[in-house]
This record gives sequence, C-alpha cells and structure tokens, in this order.
Amino acid sequence: MTQFQQAPPALGNQYDDDRVLRSYLARVLPADVLNDIQESLVEMGRLAGGELYELQLADRLNEPTLTQWDAWGNRIDKIGVTPLWRRAERIAAEHGLVATAYEQKHGSLSRVHQCALAYLFTPSTDIYSCPLAMTDGAARTLLNSGNQALIDHAVPHLITRDPQKFWTAGQWMTELTGGSDVGLSETIAKQESGSNTYRLYGRKWFTSAIASQMALTLARPEGNGPGGRGLALFYLETRDEHGRRHNIQINRLKDKLGTRKVPTAELTLDGTPAQLVKGPSDGVRNIAPLLNITRLWNGISAVSLMRRGLALSFDYASKRTAFGAPLSEKPLHVDTLVTLQAEFEAAFHLAFYVAELTGRSETHEISDDDGLLLRLLTPVMKLTTGKQAVMVASEVLESFGGAGYVEDTGLPVLLRDSQVLPIWEGTTNVLALDTLRALQSDGDPQRGLKRFEAAVMLCMEGVNDSRIVNVVRAALDHAASWLAQVEGDALEAGARRFSLTLGRAVELALLIKHAQWALDYKEDRKSLESAQRFASVGVDHIF
Ligand SMILES: Cc1cc2nc3c(=O)[nH]c(=O)nc-3n(C[C@H](O)[C@H](O)[C@H](O)COP(=O)(O)OP(=O)(O)OC[C@H]3O[C@@H](n4cnc5c(N)ncnc54)[C@H](O)[C@@H]3O)c2cc1C
Repeated sequence: MTQFQQAPPALGNQYDDDRVLRSYLARVLPADVLNDIQESLVEMGRLAGGELYELQLADRLNEPTLTQWDAWGNRIDKIGVTPLWRRAERIAAEHGLVATAYEQKHGSLSRVHQCALAYLFTPSTDIYSCPLAMTDGAARTLLNSGNQALIDHAVPHLITRDPQKFWTAGQWMTELTGGSDVGLSETIAKQESGSNTYRLYGRKWFTSAIASQMALTLARPEGNGPGGRGLALFYLETRDEHGRRHNIQINRLKDKLGTRKVPTAELTLDGTPAQLVKGPSDGVRNIAPLLNITRLWNGISAVSLMRRGLALSFDYASKRTAFGAPLSEKPLHVDTLVTLQAEFEAAFHLAFYVAELTGRSETHEISDDDGLLLRLLTPVMKLTTGKQAVMVASEVLESFGGAGYVEDTGLPVLLRDSQVLPIWEGTTNVLALDTLRALQSDGDPQRGLKRFEAAVMLCMEGVNDSRIVNVVRAALDHAASWLAQVEGDALEAGARRFSLTLGRAVELALLIKHAQWALDYKEDRKSLESAQRFASVGVDHIF
C-alpha cells in the first residue's frame, strides 16, 4: 500500500521568481544600470533560495553562546555565533551588502541596489540584517559627523568587501531606564585628564550583535545637564590590541521570543575608553542618521520576510490538496493569499521609495519638498511595514495549517522574527509621535501635511483608476480634517491611527503608480489587481 507523502514548499532563485522586485527595478532603474547590477541580484537570489536557505534550515537549533570565563579563571566574555551567521558575514562583505551604498557606482540609485540585495539576503540569514543595519548606520553617522580621524580610522572597515578587514558595528542606546525615553540614560562619561579620551561607566540593557568590533553609544559627560541634550555620542572599540574586552562585561544574553541567532546582550561598561563623535552634547540628535538607516533596513526586512512567507505559501498551495483539489484552486484560500500579497506589494513600494529618497539625500540630489517627505516617511514607513509584517507572517503560518505551527518546517521563525520589527528602533507609538514632530518641523503641521498630500497626489498623475485615486484622496482629506480639529491629549492619543493612515495611503498611491506603469509598458495587470485589493481592504484607520 502506498502511503500519502506531502511535498514540502520549495524556493527557486529568489530574484528570478520575484515579479514585484523585478518589475519595480525595471521601472526605477535606467536600462544600463539594471543591466550592470542584474548579475549581482541573480547571484544573491540563487544563494537565498539555495545554499543559504538549506543552511538556514540545517542551522535551526543552533544559537549563539556566551562563555564568560576560561579554564584558568580569566574573564573572557566570548561570543560564539552559529554557522549560518559565520557564512552570512562572509557573503555580506563579499557581496557588498553595506559597501554598495557607499561605493555609489550608480549614484543615488546605489541605495536601491543595496536594498534589493538586502531584501534578497535577509530572509535566509536569520536577521544577520541586524548587524548590517547598524554597520551601515554607523558608517553614515561617522561620515556625516565630519570627524575626519574617526572617518579615516573606522569607515574603511565598515564599507569594505574584504571579509578579513570587515567590521560590524553595534549601537548601544537602550538602558534599563528606557529605550524610548533615552534622555533618562544613566551612563556617565569621565574625561581622562589631558586627553580626548573618555571612560564610560554604566549599564546597557539591549545591545544586539554584540560580536561587533565597534559601537556607537550614548553617555552623559560629567557636568552635563539632564535629558537627551546632555548626552553625547561616543565611538568605542569593543576589544584592545590584544583581543581583550575594553572594560566591558557581558552579563548575559537575552532569552528572546525571536531573532534568536542575534546575540543580544546586557552589558556593564566599567571604564570603557571612548571618543566623542561630534561634540560633548546633543547625542540624541547626532545619532539620528544611524536611526534613519536602521529604520530603512527595518522596512526592507519587513517586506523581505513578507515576501519569503508568501513565496513558500503560494508554492505550498499548489502542492497541498484538500477536498478534491489543490489549495491553489480553492477560491477562499486564493482570496486569503492575494489579500496578503496586496499588503506585501503596498509595503514593498513604500519601503523602496524611502530607499530612493535616502539615496538622493546621500548624494545631495534631493529637493526641500522631498527632504521633508523623507523625514516624514522614514517613521511612517517603519511603523506601517512593521505592523504589516507581523500580520502577514501570522496569516502565512495559518495558510500552512498545522505545519505552520511546527518548528522543523522552518515556518514559525518567520512570525517570531517579524515581531521584533515594530519594537526595536522605535515602537509604533513612539514613531507615531515622531510623525507628528516631523510634520511640525516645517513650523506648521497643517502646511507640512499639505506638502505631503501634494507629493502623494502628484505621484498618482496619469493613473486611470479614479476609484483608487479617490480612496487615497479621501484618506488624506480625513487626516487633514482630523489634524485641524484635535490638539493636546486627543492629538497624541490618535497619533498611531493618523500615522498608519498616512502610511497606508502613500502605499496605495505608490502601488497604483507602479501598477499603471506595469499596465502601460509591460501589459501586466497583476500590480493593478493588488492595488484594487489593497484599496478595498481600506487605508483609513482614523476614527
Ligand atoms: C530583539 C531586540 C534587540 C534590540 N537591540 C537593541 C540594540 O542593539 N541597541 C539598543 O539600543 N536597543 C536595542 N533594543 C531595544 C529597543 O530599541 C527598545 O526595546 C525599544 O526602543 C523600546 O524601549 P523599551 O523596551 O525601554 O520600552 P519602553 O520605552 O518602556 O516602552 C514601553 C511601551 O510604552 C510605549 N511608549 C513609550 N513612550 C510612549 C509615549 N510617549 N506615548 C505612547 N506610548 C509610549 C512604547 O510604544 C511601548 O509599547 C532591542 C530590542 C529588542 C527586542
């Protein structure tokens, strides 16, 4: 008697198989640029769907380790990472996962190229994107700081393609007092007499990718006042020339829900030598470039995890039979998946639009209006895509039935890892309040919103589907009338619904813009169907 055997979901080349990425790149990149970078994307797609995916499944039960003492009683605080992460580090350096953005071979579009590589790489490497995001953010922060000594010393390590020279960076902000309200930080910086070196004393409560060679951190120079302004931004190296930790004790690794391949530590700094990056105060402001970059990576990670879940789920639907037909022929199952696909596509276009704007700001090719848009869309994109990633991952697991809940399918990790996206680098609420601040940065939030609305409506010029244009317009009009009516506590209380409405409205606008292009130039209706679906689900969360 032959017994039934279920075929598992499989992945092909993750670039070749990705209609959304390929179609987007064909629209935004000149043909010669696309031609030039295509090979790198095909290769990363091959690794992500092949070698790295296989290694990821095989590496499932491995976790990072902390060895605090050697056999002879010396405190060593040694971190071991898993085979997948060791391989990921090498591939990341060689394939320029950080370097591509700084080599700027294609000007501002190098950011788009880098984000496309990161999007392909991330879902097969169990959040190796975390150290890369912070490394990229550290490079950008140091370059913006004007501190030539640190730029010359550290940046070449952060942006090299040579795995032997490659450094990763941590960012140590969160203390027990709070990750959102970092102005409460207690770490003290004491200046060594007659020198530019400071020594840091304090406890850092969440420090991810603790195997890194350097970190940017916040501490309060002695004598400075309270709050974020009294903090300064510091550069430190985690080990001395003999490989010993620089007066840093790793107290323990966090036992986390997800991102379990990422060694996230609690630290004590006990006289750690550090250099000022940019003046003895305003540390929170000075670290902002790092947060803008890590928030971009967060959004790219969100869409990449959604894409991975859906790639597996669509494949499985063609292999799993129920009630006499494959799931891919069951109208309700298909309806469920295409609704998730629409969420993913909308999120994709917003995350990559922020990549485009980031690239233009780095090459100083950005107008004032687009500068404001980038300031506003960075938190809006991060908070909107983070929420979508958790929802999509949860539904993806359900689309596999019981198998989605079983660890050795490799599926549950998608949900656990997605759950970090709305938490770190600014929770949904904290970013919603930042969205209000971004509108205020122009002096008048109403005027800021008008400029935003004008930019969104402009991007839908030439779109034929007036129903969708009207859905976007109605949501933005509602946002404007709400903003005009509320103040004080009511404004703060509604900030999340307001920001999500802006996020989803701009997602729909970008998706329909792309859909019109795909229809006009590629006779491809799939993006339009996703836009129509996303519009039907709705974008307005304000009440
Ligand atoms: C896996 C992981 C890795 C991390 N890695 C790092 C790292 O490498 N470096 C680092 O510095 N940090 C790191 N963090 C810390 C992370 O950035 C913080 O957890 C996050 O910023 C929230 O801070 P908190 O935990 O202190 O929560 P709190 O700030 O106490 O917030 C608790 C809740 O209150 C809400 N809240 C706070 N203020 C307001 C307000 N004004 N209005 C409304 N709601 C509000 C928040 O949205 C949240 O829901 C990591 C966290 C995780 C989970």
